Amino acid sequence: MAKKGKGNKKSAPAAKSVRELLRVGPEFDPAAVDARRIVAGPKDKAQALAEVGALEGEVSDLQERLYAESRGGGKRRLLILLQGMDTSGKGGAIKAIDRVSEPLGLRIAQFGAPTKAELKKHYLWRIEQKLPEPGAIGIFDRSHYEDVLVVRVRNLVPAEEWEKRYDEINAWEKKWSDDGVTFLKCMLYISPAEQKERLLARLDEPDKQWKYRPGDVDDRLLWPDFMEAYRVALARCSTVYAPWYVIPADRKWHRDWLLAQLVAETLREMNPQYPTTTFDVAAERARVEAS
Ligand code: AMP
Ligand code: MG
Repeated sequence: MAKKGKGNKKSAPAAKSVRELLRVGPEFDPAAVDARRIVAGPKDKAQALAEVGALEGEVSDLQERLYAESRGGGKRRLLILLQGMDTSGKGGAIKAIDRVSEPLGLRIAQFGAPTKAELKKHYLWRIEQKLPEPGAIGIFDRSHYEDVLVVRVRNLVPAEEWEKRYDEINAWEKKWSDDGVTFLKCMLYISPAEQKERLLARLDEPDKQWKYRPGDVDDRLLWPDFMEAYRVALARCSTVYAPWYVIPADRKWHRDWLLAQLVAETLREMNPQYPTTTFDVAAERARVEAS
């Protein structure tokens, strides 16, 4: 009988892609998500982190090809959009993406409550300013989805106004996807119990207190309302051209593994191409040698 390979803890290849496993359908319900579930891949932290690290070469290479493609006139870019309740790990997730990619090609944007000047403009205006340029990878820490999440929960605009936004967001994302933007929209889903622990940890550790905002508890008290707003937003705005993915995020190392797979799968499918050279390579070679 064949012995199992010693130390061969490599996880079996997932029967389905991680994107298929996490994609949101029209029947999405956050209440049904188990935030501690191991969806696929390694069941232990060390192995998961090792596998994330092992993706770095491939992801950086695909990223370089994406940039090279844009130098040849290509318009494609990747936008990774992160949403989640406070402490869901958006910052940690960005670090995980940074670990597998080239920082030079990353464009990170954070969206807090809009300023007075921003409020005078259409809510999509400030988002559009931060879209990654062709060849780059954008990461949004919160996004225009706040305009149908917190805005809806807290009645920051009348219902007839936010109600129109779902279709408007879909049309806007379609426009940009036709213009070369590949959307990777991820909700980091933590359980309320895990959030409580993370908020308490922020209060208990002096060097984490700066991360705590008293308003976090106000949002926490509205958890069911936020989940209802997430349910509607994700169900209505998970489209073929810009699908939503829900990442169970109570275990940070599993969250990072899933996210790294999503990024790698997406870039592989994009399959960016080096542009064809616009000069005569042999002639240029001769010139360099003669110089
Ligand atoms: P954080 O991401 O924890 O630094 O917090 C940013 C805060 O800005 C969150 O409480 C968001 O709900 C809030 N925020 C983001 N976008 C909007 C928006 N469009 N309208 C109102 N509040 C927003
Ligand atoms: Mg916060």
